[in-house]
Amino acid sequence: MIDLHTHTTESDGTCPPVELIAEAVRAGVEVLSITDHDTFRGYDQALSVARSSGVELICGIELSTKLNGRSVHLLGYFPQPDGEMADFREWVLEMQASRRERNVRLSERLRELGVDVSLEEAEAIGRGMTGRPHFAQILVQKGYVANIRQAFDEYLDESARGYVYRREPQLTEGVRRIRGAGGIASLAHPTRIHGHVAALLPDLCAAGLDAIEAYHSDHTPQETEFFLGLARKHGLKITGGSDFHGALKPEARLGAGCNGNLNIPREVVDAWGRSPAKSPACP
Ligand SMILES: [Zn+2]
Ligand SMILES: [Zn+2]
Repeated sequence: MIDLHTHTTESDGTCPPVELIAEAVRAGVEVLSITDHDTFRGYDQALSVARSSGVELICGIELSTKLNGRSVHLLGYFPQPDGEMADFREWVLEMQASRRERNVRLSERLRELGVDVSLEEAEAIGRGMTGRPHFAQILVQKGYVANIRQAFDEYLDESARGYVYRREPQLTEGVRRIRGAGGIASLAHPTRIHGHVAALLPDLCAAGLDAIEAYHSDHTPQETEFFLGLARKHGLKITGGSDFHGALKPEARLGAGCNGNLNIPREVVDAWGRSPAKSPACP
């Protein structure tokens, strides 16, 4: 079993990186990628534990990018992380700084709306990767909304009254940066993209997109088949994963997806044509 899309407490998941490796062992996940939003900190923390646990850990990241004014997530995989990545890591740190600055403005905006949710409260939960889900948790805890979904609908989503803009790279820049660092750029959960993915793909392929996330917890079997077909048509590689977030999204199970809708074959990674950095076997 493989799972190439997971989040830890270093972005918006609830499972610390080291515990995620233990969870992967329990779930029978042999090849795992940690794809935290805009950071490698979870991967960095988990790497040595993964090695001693015999879990093959692929260096990954999920970038928030823009395509035609909409937010689109882009996965980056680095099967052989090496010196090429220094510039990329530097760029990722710059984006984190811009996220922090957005959070300052978000807490100010909420205060204007009469909502008492401070940056400090959100950062107490989210630490260095504080983002909108952490503000959402406080909104729920303080009784402003009934649940996380409502927090986004009423305050945090792009169409909601509390939303504040954040500078995000264009999708094409994300693709270019990932490839420049020797990585594979994959379109994340394509079912969530507004507009017709099939119509967008020729341009994205021309921009250098390598792969598409055909397997994802949100995909119906028909959607998975559809995206596999698009991959064949455009000569794209395939990626897939549960988008595991721990307790924040309990229905998406590590390795297995929603209601067991994932069973991603190992061949998916083998077909990338670059062997992942091998983890030494258990002593
Ligand atoms: Zn995503
Ligand atoms: Zn994700």
